[in-house]
Amino acid sequence: MLALVPDGPAAVAGLRHDDVVVAADGAPLPRAPDSAANSFAPAERIISALEDAFSDGRALLEIRRGGHVLPIEVSAALGCASRFQVAPSTRLNALADGRYVQLTSALVAAVPDEAELAGLIAHEMAHNILSHRARLNAAGIDRGLLQHFGRNARLTRDTEREADRFAVYLLVRAGYDPAALIRVWRRVAPREGAMFGGTHPSWSERIAIVRAEIAEVERLRAEGQEIRPAWTPAVLD
Ligand SMILES: [Zn+2]
Repeated sequence: MLALVPDGPAAVAGLRHDDVVVAADGAPLPRAPDSAANSFAPAERIISALEDAFSDGRALLEIRRGGHVLPIEVSAALGCASRFQVAPSTRLNALADGRYVQLTSALVAAVPDEAELAGLIAHEMAHNILSHRARLNAAGIDRGLLQHFGRNARLTRDTEREADRFAVYLLVRAGYDPAALIRVWRRVAPREGAMFGGTHPSWSERIAIVRAEIAEVERLRAEGQEIRPAWTPAVLD
């Protein structure tokens, strides 16, 4: 343990700083290789093993503390199913592959405040929540060069519109000003160049889509209705 979330499930169960988790539900955790290869794969294997152990809501961890090994049962807290990473890069980019939301360090550095960062994350989270990657895969969408043409580009652009619309609801329900999404698209638009090629709608269209959805949220609020999409995400069709 390099760090513990105060009052988080691990701290509540009695885990301490410098404890070493050696096994979960009787299965030894994968060991990191001795050579510090520049790869996330070992950490990915450990995270996956822990997620498997906690899939029933709890796990019995074996902890090495000092010279002793002791069992500690930990109850999981419900959380977000997406994993988040900041990838070191000088390019402005972000991805959502169904499991990860990844922003480049340059993109994070390009936003001036938490609300705009939340806007970026909400858009990528929406892709994961709406299973866009799986949906595009199921539709046989090519992610190579052909992604930029014809039906491939059209379906990819549809998922971008849907993610922008859904992000408005995520932002509002998380307590952020949804107009931050407009601000951040305005900010990255002139800098992004040809990065997204033909796979994204134009920035002016995206901003208009977000603005229309914010108006819809205001309507729901004025009518005292729950703030949730009145439309059905296409993935649920
Ligand atoms: Zn997107």
